Amino acid sequence: MVRAETATQNTMKVRKMASKHIIIIGAGAAGIRMGIQLREMGITSFQIVEKDDSVGGTWRDNTYPGVACDVPAQYYCYPFAPNTTVKNTFATGSQLWDYFQDIATRFEIDGHIRFGVEVTDAEWVAGRWKLTTTDGEILHADIVIGAVGRLRVPHYPVIEGLDDFGGPVVHSARWDKNLSLEGKRVGVIGNGSSAVQIISATVDSVGHLDVYQRTAQWVYPWKNKEIDPEELERARTSDSEAIRAYDRARDTFRALFEGIAAGADAEKRNAACVDALNSVKDPVLRAKLTPDYPVGCKRLVVSGTFYDAIQRPNVSVVTERIARVEREGIRMADGALRPLDIIVLATGFHADSYLRPMRVTGEDGMTLDDIWSDVFLNYNSIALPFMPNFFMVNGPFSPGGSISIIEIIETHVNYVARLIDRVVRDHVEIAPKIERSEKFVHDARERAKKTIWYTGGCSSWYLDANGVPLVNPLTSTQLEELMRDVVFSDFNVRPAQVEVAT
Ligand code: NAP
Repeated sequence: MVRAETATQNTMKVRKMASKHIIIIGAGAAGIRMGIQLREMGITSFQIVEKDDSVGGTWRDNTYPGVACDVPAQYYCYPFAPNTTVKNTFATGSQLWDYFQDIATRFEIDGHIRFGVEVTDAEWVAGRWKLTTTDGEILHADIVIGAVGRLRVPHYPVIEGLDDFGGPVVHSARWDKNLSLEGKRVGVIGNGSSAVQIISATVDSVGHLDVYQRTAQWVYPWKNKEIDPEELERARTSDSEAIRAYDRARDTFRALFEGIAAGADAEKRNAACVDALNSVKDPVLRAKLTPDYPVGCKRLVVSGTFYDAIQRPNVSVVTERIARVEREGIRMADGALRPLDIIVLATGFHADSYLRPMRVTGEDGMTLDDIWSDVFLNYNSIALPFMPNFFMVNGPFSPGGSISIIEIIETHVNYVARLIDRVVRDHVEIAPKIERSEKFVHDARERAKKTIWYTGGCSSWYLDANGVPLVNPLTSTQLEELMRDVVFSDFNVRPAQVEVAT
């Protein structure tokens, strides 16, 4: 463990704080990190409520074959706790799950977590938050932090007859660990990042693989190499070497992808994608796999194995429209039936769920649905008007695409910590002003309209119902700049209504 103090670097000195009760919802990468921050601030009167039975969020939930993180492992970690155990460029899902479990223990977060507690409602009542759980339990908090993750609610496609299929139907994010694909006729619907990992991991063991592709994807060919064992050993035994490895991995990642939204530095990136596509020998297959939109319009898939896997003789890329699912398999629009044993839905997530389905009711009876009825009104992706002392990590208009989520969490947590510091120190209630929230959303949307995500003419999970990106095209440096100072004049700050124990 190194540089634990960096967590508070830009915020405040460690000290004992008067206690207000704080509830963090979610024990994934964001919730754990928030807990670490609170402890460093001297706040121990907090609880993390987690609906499941362990920490780790996405890396607990996603257990499909081949699940891995396509951000280099030496960068996909908290900067103050470098991952020095991974042996390859990219960590597997279970290695990352281990990492976050280890962090929760090392930083003494475990004792703050209550597992199996799912919050359905949060209501602001007389100056405090009243939370209701699925079990009907009532919890009270002075401050709430929604750290629920973004790609969390699976998207199940509406396909006629899906329930009538004779074999198992499994979503990539809800994998059945007892399901064997060995020798089976497997149909994978979708060809995004999850599907590509599943295809590469299972092609050798399945009997036949049908890939039902609606839209071709660009794939950036980044090989998963073994990290030089000597470099690993240096990082394991020297904090400064571990930090150097983190910095190197971060810089490599940024150099490749940071300009993607703006279409900057595209030449090398595009050429690598085109070269990889051109490795497909069969011109008919290559034509099927060729996207009709620019590289980076959708979230770029990263895989050093996909084009090899997709050319195997036991793989078919099916581009005909799916008409319906029947007991024996998938009936295509041209009338052909493709017999299958197992259907895999690699069909992504409802990326616009954010805190929902949780219901949040703030001042004047204003609900989350009220303030999100038109656009996703919020301030800096971390606070909501009408919702005093309610904060988020990775809320609407957070950056994405070209930044590691861990970096976003780091910046958001540091910012939220300064708001909490003010709430606790000055015993106040704090919520962003409506007009400042509107300005944040307006600026983010206008910025996003200049990006390749919007102008590229593709559909993706980046876009809202009106086709405008919900992802903020900020580089990490720009995000840090935006969130460097807390502008308290952008908030309504008033004395707390309730007495608080010290
Ligand atoms: P996704 O990128 O949203 O891909 C969903 C796929 O399902 C697309 O190919 C989509 O086709 C297809 N699809 C959806 N509904 C369909 C329908 N009704 N009929 C036919 N096809 C349908 O989902 P994902 O692959 O799970 O990835 C989501 C995000 O998770 C990624 O972009 C990435 O940010 C993250 N992720 C990261 C990693 C990692 O290594 N770090 C790994 C996995 C996922 P269209 O393109 O035509 O819509």
